[in-house]
Amino acid sequence: MEDKAHIPLPSPALTLLSLLEGAGFEAWCVGGFVRDALIGRKAGDIDIASSAPWDKAQALFEAQGLKTFETGVKHGTLTVLVGSDALEVTTFRTDGTYTDGRRPDSVTFVESIEEDLARRDFTMNAIAYHPERGLFDPQGGQRDIEARVIRAVGEARTRFAEDALRILRGVRFASQLGFSLEEATRKAMVEQRGLLEIVAAERVSHELGALICGAFVRDTLLAHTDIIGQVLPELLPMKGFDQKTPYHVFDVLEHTACCMENTRPCALVRWAALFHDSGKPAAFFTDDAGVGHFYGHAKISVTIAQTAMRRLRLPRALVSDVLLLVEHHDDILAATPKSVKRMLRKLGGRPEMFFALTELKRGDAAAQAPHCRHRVGLAHELDAVLEAVLEAGEVFSLHDLAIDGKDLKALGIPPGPLYKELLEGALESVLSGQVPNEKPSLIASIQGRLEP
Ligand code: ATP
Ligand code: MG
Repeated sequence: MEDKAHIPLPSPALTLLSLLEGAGFEAWCVGGFVRDALIGRKAGDIDIASSAPWDKAQALFEAQGLKTFETGVKHGTLTVLVGSDALEVTTFRTDGTYTDGRRPDSVTFVESIEEDLARRDFTMNAIAYHPERGLFDPQGGQRDIEARVIRAVGEARTRFAEDALRILRGVRFASQLGFSLEEATRKAMVEQRGLLEIVAAERVSHELGALICGAFVRDTLLAHTDIIGQVLPELLPMKGFDQKTPYHVFDVLEHTACCMENTRPCALVRWAALFHDSGKPAAFFTDDAGVGHFYGHAKISVTIAQTAMRRLRLPRALVSDVLLLVEHHDDILAATPKSVKRMLRKLGGRPEMFFALTELKRGDAAAQAPHCRHRVGLAHELDAVLEAVLEAGEVFSLHDLAIDGKDLKALGIPPGPLYKELLEGALESVLSGQVPNEKPSLIASIQGRLEP
C-alpha cells in the first residue's frame, strides 16, 4: 500500500518526525504540504499527524528546547516552533458528530493514521508521507490529483452535513488549483449549500478570501456561482446580466470574473474587483437607441460591497479600503501629475492604494471589449506618473505641506475644525499649482482667505 515516491521535507519537519519516532510514536507529514508537493506547487504550512498524545509530544519537544503553543489541544493540536517555522502537530483523531454543523461536539483520538486520514475532507488532502516509509494513500488521493479532481472522502453528503465549511473549501481548492469537482461531490455541494448559513462568518470569509485570490478564480466563479452565491448572494443578479453596450462583450458576472483573474492575487484588489460592478444591475437603463448605461453604478456598488463585507465580518480596515477602490474604479484619470496627485489625495495620500486602483483599472480594461483594452496601457502610464511624483518628493498629502497647525496657531487662529479646512485648502492650492509649497506664500494665502 505504501509508495516510495520521494518528497523533500524541510528540515524542521524531519526534526519533529524523528523526535516523535525516536520516542516510540508513529508520525507522518499530512495535508496540504503533501498535496502541494505532489502537484509541484509551492507548499504552505507543514502539518504532522502522530500517535503521540499532545501532552506527551509537548514534553518531548520542550525537553529539546523547542517552544510549543497549546493552540488547539482540545482537538489534539500543538503548534511547535522550530527556528522561525511554526509546525502543527496533531494527534491521530477522528471527529465526533457535528450537531451544529460547525464544529465537532467532540473528537476521539484513534490508533491509526488510516483512521485519521478517513476524517479528512478531500482525497487529495488525505495522503500521508514519511521520508522512509513513503506515501500512504488509502483514499486514492494520488489518482485524483493525477486526474485533477476534487473528491470528498467517503459519502459526500454525510461529510458536508458534518461540516458544511467543506463545501466552500472544495470550491476554494478548485479556484487555487484549477481542478474540477468530481460529479457526486459537486452535486452534494449544490444540494447542501444551504447548510453554509450556519457556518461562522469568520470561517466563511477565510475560505472566500483564499477563493477570490485563486489563479483559476474566473472559471470557478462562473462554474460554481450557485454554491458561492449561497454566501455571496450579491453575485446572483450579476449572472447573465446583459450590459447592452459596445464597451462590453461579457455579462456583468463574466466581466467581473475576468477582471478578477486579470489582477494580481491580493485580497484588497480582488475584493474590490469582485464588487466593482455589482451595482450595475440596479443602475441599468437603456437609452432610445437601446444602448445600456449605468450612471452612478459605483456608488450602488459601494453600498452592496459594504453590506456584504460587514456580513462576512471582514476586517474594518480592509473593508474601508475596498470601498474606496470600488467608489473610484470608474473615475476618469489623466496621466498627468495634477490628476494623479488629486486621486492620491482622495485615496488618503497612500501610494499603495493608488497602485491598487490602477491594478483594478488594468483588470477592468482587460475584461472589456477588445477595442477598450488599450486602457490597460493608460493604467501603466498612471503608475509611471505616480512613481515620478514620488521620486521627485512632490507634495500630495497634508503631511508634505510646508505649514501645519503650529503655523496657524502662531497666526492667532484658535484651534478647531477650521484648522483642517484651512490646511486642506492650502494643499488644494499647492496641488493645483496656484501657490508654491513654501511657508511665506502659504501663510500669505491663508491670511488672504481669512480677511473679511
Ligand atoms: P492550505 O494549503 O490552504 O493550508 P490545507 O489542505 O493544508 O490547505 P488546512 O486548513 O491547513 O488546509 O488543513 C490541513 C488539513 O486538515 C487538510 O489538508 C485536511 O486534511 C484537514 N482539514 C482541514 N479542514 C478540514 C475540515 N473542515 N474537514 C476535514 N478535514 C479538514
Ligand atoms: Mg495547511
